[in-house]
Amino acid sequence: MIPDNEQVVLHKKKVISNRKIAPGVFYLTFEKTGSFKAGQTVAVGVVPGIEPRLYSIASGEKEREMSILFIVVPGGFLTPRMAELVKGDTVFVSGAFGTFYGTKEPAYWIASGTGIAPYHSMYLSGLTQNKILIHGGRKLDSFYFNNQFQPFFKEHYIRCCSQESGDGVYEGRLTHYLREQQHLPPDYKYYLCGSSEMVVEARDILIEKGIAFDNIFAEIYF
Ligand SMILES: Cc1cc2nc3c(=O)[nH]c(=O)nc-3n(C[C@H](O)[C@H](O)[C@H](O)COP(=O)(O)OP(=O)(O)OC[C@H]3O[C@@H](n4cnc5c(N)ncnc54)[C@H](O)[C@@H]3O)c2cc1C
Repeated sequence: MIPDNEQVVLHKKKVISNRKIAPGVFYLTFEKTGSFKAGQTVAVGVVPGIEPRLYSIASGEKEREMSILFIVVPGGFLTPRMAELVKGDTVFVSGAFGTFYGTKEPAYWIASGTGIAPYHSMYLSGLTQNKILIHGGRKLDSFYFNNQFQPFFKEHYIRCCSQESGDGVYEGRLTHYLREQQHLPPDYKYYLCGSSEMVVEARDILIEKGIAFDNIFAEIYF
């Protein structure tokens, strides 16, 4: 949700590129609206006067440009329009806000679908020490950025695929994977990002397994 007591000012920015990275999924890059902490969000629109939607910043803190990762929601207002954007088009983007940001502390980064975006930003911003990345997706092509994550995180990168099977991929939902874990370190932070269905279920599992509520951080997309 866009913060209530904060006037969200949208800046006119030029699209630099719009890359389709999987079926219906795009990596949109535009001129930066200012500095941010990896994990934060921006509001994005394509038409002035129409309420913008929120997107996690997917690019690194030090990059010159800013990027988001989005999936086209069938029948949605903004995402089918964003999919059509090409270099030189205009987007309306706010400054960064939100408190879901990464730190150097040991943590589990847990995502479903495009909820991987803030961790991509944290990864590109050098917050990777003592991190375990768990990504849930329906199909094998849902593991966006896996060619960066796999060689880097190795056995600390767990892909959970609910509808297909593949080499080195856990077969089943990420919540099943979490349930199966015998020991989850209580002194780690647990970041959850994605659909409300995943976040609520994963949070319950973590609490059942003895993780303190204060060590769980959530960003819910829809
Ligand atoms: C804090 C925050 C961060 C977000 N970050 C991202 C991000 O990084 N990438 C991203 O793709 N989306 C992200 N979202 C979701 C995004 O803001 C929009 O809701 C989404 O892109 C749909 O926009 P739309 O205008 O096309 O659809 P709308 O016309 O706004 O909505 C259509 C319907 O689709 C539902 N919906 C929204 N997203 C999805 C989805 N992924 N799958 C299925 N149904 C959905 C909505 O709840 C709504 O009922 C984020 C949301 C929040 C609150």
